[in-house]
Amino acid sequence: AKPLSLEKILFSQGFGTRRYCSDLVYADLVKVNGVLAEDPEERIAPENLLLNVEGKDWEFHEKAYIAFNKPLNYECSHKTTHHPSVYSLLPKPFVERGLQCVGRLDYDTTGLILLSDDGQFIHKMTTPKKNIGKVYQITTPDPITPKQIDHLLTSVTLDDDPKPCVATACQLLDEKLLAMTIVEGRYHQVKRMMAAVGNHVAGLHRTQIGQYVMPSDLAEGEWRWLYPADLSLLS
Ligand code: URA
Repeated sequence: AKPLSLEKILFSQGFGTRRYCSDLVYADLVKVNGVLAEDPEERIAPENLLLNVEGKDWEFHEKAYIAFNKPLNYECSHKTTHHPSVYSLLPKPFVERGLQCVGRLDYDTTGLILLSDDGQFIHKMTTPKKNIGKVYQITTPDPITPKQIDHLLTSVTLDDDPKPCVATACQLLDEKLLAMTIVEGRYHQVKRMMAAVGNHVAGLHRTQIGQYVMPSDLAEGEWRWLYPADLSLLS
């Protein structure tokens, strides 16, 4: 990529207006690869660029792709109704540059969520044609029976749609704990599938999207960058 002015780079990352970004530099609040920056017009190659803005390290990413471990009782929207927004847990520049959830989780669902500001990527990941598996761990109030698993793997009809849906894999992890893979993302799909087979969801946690498994050291409410090797697990 061609060199860009520092001011443009800061702006592209979501640190504020062009004017605000240049003021950050003049206020001695920006370091470029460890060195205090002096000139907002300085041209910089954006590859392997580590910024530090107001004391916080920031990797330059032309487009942002991140994994986030969603805690309970947060909503995946900007304008929330009853609970705080997941965006309140992310650095402000992400919100500023328009990161969006790639497929939402309900407020009472926890676990893996991807966010990005790459519209093509979001579209690619959410189009039903893509058939990307999502793995959920489902805690139920009643023991899960072989018959229910059979039903989930065969065909489940939801109340608002004659087109049936299925689980592409089920693994019973405990009497009341099921790992289930689905490829679609219909409204409240897992909860409604479980109700349709005569059980219920007491707790829902997403552990995997495609072949990307939530890192075991990614704590609730934390996020991390996805690198090309991670992204290749999503296609
Ligand atoms: N299915 C649901 O019912 N809820 C979610 O949050 C995700 C899948």
